Amino acid sequence: MKLFGHDASKKLTLHEVRRQIYPSDRHNIVKKAFEEALITGTYKFEARLVKPDNSIVRISTMGKVFYDNKGAPSKIIGTLRDITQEEEYRHILEKSERRLRKFILNAPVSIGILNGPDYIVEIINESALKLMGKAKEQMLNKPVLETMTELDTAQAKLLLDGVYYSGKSFSASEFPVKLNRHGTLEKVYVNFEYDPLVNNEGKVYGIMVVGNDVTEQVVARKKIEQSEARFKLLADSMPQFVWTSDNQGNINYFNKAVYDYSGLSEEKIDEGGWIDIIHPADMEENILKWRNAIEKGKDFIFEHRFRRYDGVYRWQLSRAIPLRDEQGKIQFWIGTSTDIQEIKEQEQQKDYFISMASHELKTPITSIKGYVQILQSMYENSEDAVLIKSLGRIHVQIEKLTTLIGDLLDVSKIRNGSLTFHKQTFDINNLIREEIEELEIIHPNHKISFKNDAIIPVFGDRERIRQVLINLISNAIKYSPIHGNILMKSKVEKQTVLVSVKDEGIGIDKNYQGKIFERFYRVEGKSEKTFPGFGIGLFIASEIIKRHEGNIGVQSKPGKGSRFYFSLPLLPGNK
Ligand code: ADP
Repeated sequence: MKLFGHDASKKLTLHEVRRQIYPSDRHNIVKKAFEEALITGTYKFEARLVKPDNSIVRISTMGKVFYDNKGAPSKIIGTLRDITQEEEYRHILEKSERRLRKFILNAPVSIGILNGPDYIVEIINESALKLMGKAKEQMLNKPVLETMTELDTAQAKLLLDGVYYSGKSFSASEFPVKLNRHGTLEKVYVNFEYDPLVNNEGKVYGIMVVGNDVTEQVVARKKIEQSEARFKLLADSMPQFVWTSDNQGNINYFNKAVYDYSGLSEEKIDEGGWIDIIHPADMEENILKWRNAIEKGKDFIFEHRFRRYDGVYRWQLSRAIPLRDEQGKIQFWIGTSTDIQEIKEQEQQKDYFISMASHELKTPITSIKGYVQILQSMYENSEDAVLIKSLGRIHVQIEKLTTLIGDLLDVSKIRNGSLTFHKQTFDINNLIREEIEELEIIHPNHKISFKNDAIIPVFGDRERIRQVLINLISNAIKYSPIHGNILMKSKVEKQTVLVSVKDEGIGIDKNYQGKIFERFYRVEGKSEKTFPGFGIGLFIASEIIKRHEGNIGVQSKPGKGSRFYFSLPLLPGNK
């Protein structure tokens, strides 16, 4: 009676019982079940029951019809159960099962549920079908090994059986399989896991297969591995040293040539031992230049000596460039070092030859010059115009030769570090004026104007600074064959004196502007070739200015003209 919400003592009639059944169930279920019971002899239904407090429970009944001796139904004896809770559990279970199914079907990884020892495909999701290139009808409710014939089925059966009969999971990474997805066999790589499905009694009844297609990643990785192997092969077969460093300048790779040359073990070199093979005399500048390159992100270029396995040092030219990502951030540096020992030796021989030749030439030229001067003063008043003109020509040519030999001697002195300076205080404007006057006489077609601040005293070697001025002005004249206007300026700027020489000549391409201050460098253009010269004037000028702690540079546009400038520190106290 409790089930109906009454006292245990209360007796209910069939009518009363019926009245408590939920109205629609009373009509649709109970009434029908009763009519059926009269025919079959079994009374059975599930319906909702309304308790006196209006709460609803679900009941299940199971009864048997008894008949009187005339064969007419007389009573029904049966059981009545409250199955509300059971129903709820069943609903929850169904719901969670539905949710699990939904999850499996929509999962981004491939999932299949295989049932029984024949591995019948019970559930298979879209992602799995896509991975295997099959339609649902081809696989569902069929033994998986019969549908996936392109697989190595013997191997697959072995793996599945292993899990099914041991009850232990099995997983594999980047497992290569051949699949027929687009009419031909193709190799794909999958990560997969087989998990046994166990029933209430602990018995395996199926396998859940979870798979993930990792072909793209594997192929990409293999490509990188291949290209790294190729790079290593290439780098190791090069006679040059090849090395890389991180963006902080820590060297993290050397090719085989470095180990072969130094005779040091990979371990020793990698641990920083490579620093030891740099010549002690080149070390400080080397470190400074490298740090500077890393800080500024600018190409590294340096000549230094490396110790060979036998203790002999050989000259190397090292270069390194930064490699950047799309945002311009430096990823790493790649560097090479090339043996330039022979070039260096040839250079030394050349230097030696220049030095010897210019010394040997100096004495006879000086004496020729002396004789010419004697002849010129002897025939000063001569009527012989040809003689006077010839002597004048010889004098000019001898002057040119003297300057050239002087320049060559200076180059030798710069190379062996014996260029000396006799510094004194002098007014630079005065010096500039002197030089303009002198050069305007020799080059009457060029007009040199001069804009200047008041007296600017500098401390330096007057004759050497004159040499710089002569070189810059002569170049301005030489490389301005059409427009003869040259503008010179001197001014005090930021504790230095800045002197500039501006011409309207042929100009210099940006690519060459840094190089023209190098020894023997001449711009190799069509128009440049027509001008005589050796490419040493600017080299000497730049050495002189550097030795005065000044700067020298150029701004130029081809076809428009150039502006050469140099700065010298002001005399202390004249700022
Ligand atoms: P050079 O004897 O060849 O003039 P320099 O060392 O004085 O040697 O100059 C080096 C190179 O720089 C020259 O060959 C020339 O190509 C270029 N150059 C120098 N000055 C000028 C200038 N004022 N205008 C154009 N080019 C110049």
